[in-house]
Amino acid sequence: MSPPVQEELNGDTAYVSLLHGDRVEFWLYALMLGHRLRQLDQATPRVLLVARPTEDYAAPFLEGMSYKCLQALWEVRPVDLVDAAAADKTRRKRHRYVFTKLRVFEVPYKHIMFFDLDVVVRRDPSELFKVSAPAGMYHGRWDRSEFASHGGLLPQEAFEKDDCVRGCVNAGLLRLDPPVTSVERRELLDEMLREVAKLKEDDQSYLPEQYFLVKQIPNWHHIKVAWNCEVNPRWSVVERHKGNSKLEKCREVIKAELPRDWFELCETQEQLRSVGMFHFSGLWLQPWWYLNMPPTEAHQQLKKQFDKRDPPGMVALAVAEWLLAAQELKESAVFSEDETYCFKQQLGMLERTAEKWWDGVQSCNACGAIQDDYDESCEECEVSAHLARVVERSESATVSTSKGRRQNWDLGGNKKRRQRKKAEKDSMELAESRCRRPSPALRPRIQETFASVNLV
Ligand SMILES: [Zn+2]
Repeated sequence: MSPPVQEELNGDTAYVSLLHGDRVEFWLYALMLGHRLRQLDQATPRVLLVARPTEDYAAPFLEGMSYKCLQALWEVRPVDLVDAAAADKTRRKRHRYVFTKLRVFEVPYKHIMFFDLDVVVRRDPSELFKVSAPAGMYHGRWDRSEFASHGGLLPQEAFEKDDCVRGCVNAGLLRLDPPVTSVERRELLDEMLREVAKLKEDDQSYLPEQYFLVKQIPNWHHIKVAWNCEVNPRWSVVERHKGNSKLEKCREVIKAELPRDWFELCETQEQLRSVGMFHFSGLWLQPWWYLNMPPTEAHQQLKKQFDKRDPPGMVALAVAEWLLAAQELKESAVFSEDETYCFKQQLGMLERTAEKWWDGVQSCNACGAIQDDYDESCEECEVSAHLARVVERSESATVSTSKGRRQNWDLGGNKKRRQRKKAEKDSMELAESRCRRPSPALRPRIQETFASVNLV
């Protein structure tokens, strides 16, 4: 372990983000976030943590012109990766390095706002420094509607009750106050890294760092949904196993498992436009897939593609705004001539990848919309048919109860405690995997294309 670095505080407040891996789209996301934050609040410094290379891990963005581009918009701070493959439940171990996020506690500023890269910020976020740290948007099944408002303290029972995990905070946007002295910062980080090293398969989760953070640090405050609005359709189709059968699968239309205020945000266009930040969490949609289209065209296509699944048009608005942010960066004068050349080359490569990709995607025979992942009728048509059936049923006044399908959380008794704990965990993770499901038909294509793309 390296000796503690004596480092004084650089300042009062900072925006911080983290870039790791070698995916060009995340490098672009980092540039866009830096640019957007600079546009909205020029006064607050921006610090980008970038993972250093290891033996089996390249760090192309800490070299050459890619690095220079990042430095044009961020104070770049190289950091060592934190690897916790054991705590990552995803099959491809795509979260194994997420604990590198803990390096945020090394950043020598008193008050920090941490952002994930897959976001588009729409309002000056400096007002969030008024929220007491630590803070993040609550994610879980505890009903916070009557208790924790924006900035309110989340009780311990929101995260854990009777040994059952009930929630965490969404780590896409965090308010944190690292300790003031470099020695304290180092001690806190070392302590947390020791805990990370202890994580076993039992602690596996789809969102490992989020559960870890609320376990390690007490007294979390809630950040309202409008500041970390997860881009999601209201309705989607999931495929799941039928009863106990491992072979038979059925498809089911489900409503997004998101809190009430998320749905309220979509009630009116005015509400939707009040969103401070859209967050493209999960793999099901990446805004750069639409880079080949002008923002207005992408907006129209997505409105049509998600007409029934996303009536207020959140998906369309969020992607269009992200494209607009990309366009603003392209037209800005933040880069030198060499940097501009590098930036445009990489952006052009992503635009061509997006173009090629949509070329091969078929339209639905029934509705003409881009087909997601089903060959007879598209997901949009499935949701549309489902909603029509629901209306029909309610019109014929058939009373149906959802009791049978609801999970029973109150099994009660010590004997059943383990059972309940497991059921609760499984259900939580199912909910997470549901709202974050990838679109099977589209995913492999992008993987294939990317294997052949090399950074210049
Ligand atoms: Zn269709």
